[in-house]
This record gives sequence, C-alpha cells and structure tokens, in this order.
Amino acid sequence: MAKTPWVDKEECIGCELCVSSCPGVFRMDEDDKAECFDASGASEEEIQSGAIDACPVSCIHWQE
Ligand code: SF4
Repeated sequence: MAKTPWVDKEECIGCELCVSSCPGVFRMDEDDKAECFDASGASEEEIQSGAIDACPVSCIHWQE
C-alpha cells in the first residue's frame, strides 16, 4: 500500500509551504492547519522533498 503523509496539527504553524509545493496532496483546514486530502496527488519523492523535508517545523510524517 502506498505511504500516506499526515500532519501533526499540534505542531503545524500554518505557513502553507506544503500546500504550495504539493497542492494536490495538502490543503489548509478551517483552523489554518495543513492536512493531507489525497496521498496520491504527488509522487512520494515530491512529497518527501517538497513537503516533509521542507516543512519548517518538521511536522509532516509518513504513515505506513
Ligand atoms: Fe504546516 Fe509544515 Fe505545511 Fe507549514 S509546511 S503548513 S508548518 S505542515
């Protein structure tokens, strides 16, 4: 099964960087926290480098 990214919303500072880099995967919720809405919206590599590695507070993780 494909890996799914999830956002630790307690840590998210709402910078929207992950939404900018992977708009097919992440969106902002009503509390201005990021969330994953479609794990297949980008490749694992794009999610890793564009969101997980880039998040300033490292709050995006893989869920196997
Ligand atoms: Fe939140 Fe990190 Fe996404 Fe910024 S990059 S919105 S801190 S999950």
